[in-house]
Amino acid sequence: MPESPADPRTAERDAMVAMQIAERGVTDANVLGAMRSVPRHRFVPDDLQSHAYDDGPLAIGHGQTISQPYIVALMTELARLTPSSRVLEVGTGCGYQTAVLATLAADVWSVELEPTLSARAAETLSSLSIRNVRLRIGDGSLGWPEAAPFDAIVVTAAPADTPPALIDQLAMGGRLVIPVGTSWQQLWVVARTPEGITREPGIGVRFVPLR
Ligand code: SAH
Repeated sequence: MPESPADPRTAERDAMVAMQIAERGVTDANVLGAMRSVPRHRFVPDDLQSHAYDDGPLAIGHGQTISQPYIVALMTELARLTPSSRVLEVGTGCGYQTAVLATLAADVWSVELEPTLSARAAETLSSLSIRNVRLRIGDGSLGWPEAAPFDAIVVTAAPADTPPALIDQLAMGGRLVIPVGTSWQQLWVVARTPEGITREPGIGVRFVPLR
């Protein structure tokens, strides 16, 4: 998972966490630690290696993007993971957020519509010896019913409305972190509580659409 201390990009990651993530208000020490340890450059195409730690999203092919580091950290913090969490991710993409989630949770299930991206993510995750992840190709708006319920669901592509199947697959106390909207989105946390489903609005964001 984390590369050796000799990894020349450790300093870049430390700077990314300090300036882009902690500076903007992410405080969870476990999340900051995961963002320092996962080698983001391994998830981006070769020609973009020098931009891997930039403060923005990057194109990963097939019209898709790897999310901005701050947004990955924020969504992970909002998911409130513990070492026993079972997590569903919708939109594997290059697998970077998957790796961050897998560092903090017990098991991650991740669904991706685009087979080429899923295959590449599988290779990268296995090259980093990240083994607590299961990948599937398909429509993530249907969730992963056989593995449900989940303690957290993180959606990294934006639907116009929250897919009902994802709410159904939340465990008691579970949290769904999801950008909802069309041209831009609001980041929502939908939670299953003993009193019922709660919805908490967050910051404005921009994601590729959930197809
Ligand atoms: N988590 C990724 C972000 C990927 S961008 C990362 O860290 O890099 C969002 C991804 O969602 C894209 O790869 C896109 O192909 C995928 N996607 C879009 N609609 C989807 C759907 N209905 N089901 C599953 N994946 C979908």
